[in-house]
Amino acid sequence: VAQGGGRTLKLPDFEYHSADTVADALEMLSQLGDDAKILAGGQSLIPLMAFRLSRPAHLIDINRVEGLARIQGGTGVTLGALVRHGTAEHSAITRQRTPLVTEALGYVGHAAIRNRGTVGGSIAHADPAAELPAVLMALGGEIVARSVRGIRVIAAEAFFTGFLSTDLEPDELLVELRIPGSADAEGWSFNEVSRRDGDFAVVGVAARVRLDGKGRIRSATLVFSGVGSTPVKAVEAVAVMLGELPSAQLWEEAADRGAREVDPRSDLHGSGEYRRHLVKTLTRRSLQTASCRARGSEP
Ligand SMILES: Cc1cc2nc3c(=O)[nH]c(=O)nc-3n(C[C@H](O)[C@H](O)[C@H](O)COP(=O)(O)OP(=O)(O)OC[C@H]3O[C@@H](n4cnc5c(N)ncnc54)[C@H](O)[C@@H]3O)c2cc1C
Repeated sequence: VAQGGGRTLKLPDFEYHSADTVADALEMLSQLGDDAKILAGGQSLIPLMAFRLSRPAHLIDINRVEGLARIQGGTGVTLGALVRHGTAEHSAITRQRTPLVTEALGYVGHAAIRNRGTVGGSIAHADPAAELPAVLMALGGEIVARSVRGIRVIAAEAFFTGFLSTDLEPDELLVELRIPGSADAEGWSFNEVSRRDGDFAVVGVAARVRLDGKGRIRSATLVFSGVGSTPVKAVEAVAVMLGELPSAQLWEEAADRGAREVDPRSDLHGSGEYRRHLVKTLTRRSLQTASCRARGSEP
């Protein structure tokens, strides 16, 4: 039974399975295939089932699987699929090596959602308005998937294939996210606008800016959420900044180009034109903050 909006909804019938090890989960996925879904934090899957938008015949609960909830540091960060948003957000390893992830996770739902929802679930669910898919793409992260057939490492840029769709096969388990760390002289920023605190964003912008020894822009990345069926990586907005000195005028020009690169649809949460306007405003803001941080100061 799921509760929401003051109503109690009975879930459609399903058979519950609990896996103790990754091997268990892979075996179950291989046997049950298309009829099964992994249950992680349940924060997206259970509401979808309550509204009959998903009707899996089998749920494979991975919450007891050992070793999937680890955060490991190296030059970057490896987040096990079962790491909760809140754990990643408050991890010193994440903050030190991938501060963009820390900043973005603070925007995910409410504290209660972040306590339960997992990073693997967020990536597998692939909501185009979600923070983590955009940030993983901006950081050049990778998704590690396992099945009884073997292991695959998929670049975030190739992983999100459409609205709530990914490159994961029905028998694959997402086991970890590999996220490269920040480089020297690199700044970052994540900004979003949502209708109410804790709601999914209408639009979000993840930015990275790296400066060279002369203070010019050596590289930059911009990824937008909430403007298409997947996160969208800007091309022209970045090209205009390369080799230039940071300035308010440059952010304005990049923001203009970014807004022209997207073609957001209108929906209940905002018109296409409003979303385009948000892309512009949030891009300017994110670039300004990222460039400040690249110079070693906080905005
Ligand atoms: C009120 C509310 C507000 C929210 N706001 C936000 C928000 O602002 N930003 C945001 O990003 N999210 C938001 N969420 C969603 C939340 O972050 C979810 O937790 C997350 O999207 C999915 O994670 P989960 O662990 O709950 O996954 P589940 O709900 O358990 O699963 C989601 C999907 O991913 C699949 N899956 C899960 N783990 C794996 C795995 N390891 N391998 C393969 N498939 C897997 C499941 O089969 C299912 O299809 C919100 C949710 C609610 C209820």
